[in-house]
Amino acid sequence: MKLLVVFIALITLFTNYSFAQQSYAKVIIDSLCSEHYDGRGYVNEGDNRAADFIIRELEAIGVTPFKKKPFAQPYRLNVNTFPYPIEVVLGDDTLVPGADYLVNSSSGSAQGEFELVEINSENLQTKFNGVADLSLQSTTQKIFAFNFTDVEDAKKRNEIMSFAYKAMKYFPVIWVEKNKQMYSVGRRQMNYPLISIDSASYFAASTVNLKINNAYKPQYLTKNVIGFIPGKKKRKYIVLSAHYDHLGRMGTDAMFPGANDNASGVAMLLSMAKHFMANKPEYSIVLCFFSGEEAGLEGSKYFVQHPYIKLKRIQFVLNIDIMGGAEDGITVVNGTKHEEAFNSLVAINAEKKYLKRVKKRGPTANSDHYFFSQSGIPAFFIYSMGNVKNYHDIYDTAENTPLNEFDDVQSLLIDFIKAR
Ligand SMILES: [Zn+2]
Repeated sequence: MKLLVVFIALITLFTNYSFAQQSYAKVIIDSLCSEHYDGRGYVNEGDNRAADFIIRELEAIGVTPFKKKPFAQPYRLNVNTFPYPIEVVLGDDTLVPGADYLVNSSSGSAQGEFELVEINSENLQTKFNGVADLSLQSTTQKIFAFNFTDVEDAKKRNEIMSFAYKAMKYFPVIWVEKNKQMYSVGRRQMNYPLISIDSASYFAASTVNLKINNAYKPQYLTKNVIGFIPGKKKRKYIVLSAHYDHLGRMGTDAMFPGANDNASGVAMLLSMAKHFMANKPEYSIVLCFFSGEEAGLEGSKYFVQHPYIKLKRIQFVLNIDIMGGAEDGITVVNGTKHEEAFNSLVAINAEKKYLKRVKKRGPTANSDHYFFSQSGIPAFFIYSMGNVKNYHDIYDTAENTPLNEFDDVQSLLIDFIKAR
């Protein structure tokens, strides 16, 4: 009996030890992806409430803000949102927001019944004198549906698509899309909506009923969250960054949870913060939880322009985005630029056998490392490679985000920081 108790205790200890980070991450991701945070976008203050959650979590871990600074670094951005119920009824079919269609994030408002006029490869030249001719169609009763799914030439499709985008200035527009759709954050408002309908849900109905109301928010107040863990060399820094914002909501029914992008990265940063609170690091750690990433890297740009520290004292930046999966390892943006650091990462990984692969990539402008890089600070942007394909859609949920490699990725990053 006694032996059994000891045995169970050992098992429990071992299980807790080996999956401690992963299970902590799961709790964080579940919380940040719940309805309460509204997709951490710019609807119902979802971003600001998520920021407050991170602050509470940092306090629980024992992380403090910078001396004389609060955790929150507020700044403003212009953003277009859809906080009200939206409805798209094609003929008699009420389409499902997020699944059947996306309302382009720069869309304006439109209400009521519209006559559907389909434009396709066959009638473009016969009925209309090319796409430019369409802008002469000044109407508020019609919706033009661009159906060019038969066009294989990607360049030509993009040309027509960019016209459909511009046409939002003149009338409501439908774009029929056969590929995977991705949502984004709108920074301006057009006069009318552009509704991108999945080709499987589209048909040339005679009418469309719309209920779409946008709310453009100029100078919306959002915030970065900045924490500080003093190291042995107090005035030399390693910056760890992850954006906590995501795409919010498109209407009241479609929420974008952003589990992989980037609740998983926030969980990684918090989990690493726990480690460095228990194991004093060599360099001080600056924890940057940025908002505005999905709106065009606004939060990190603001921080680099208004840093709490001298930028040249930063030894290295690790920007963490998309930490789910990683069955195939990680990609390291700027891996080609900082060869010594990249080789160190590869060597640690080979020695400890953490991940399947550490792959290098050249510089990109697609996440929060970018403005650090532009300021001459060595920075990696690290994201995982694997089977998770849900990206910028309603399916990027906590349950679709495996964390099997989470602990190994974390160990690799910590070993890398220790070797700096
Ligand atoms: Zn992201």
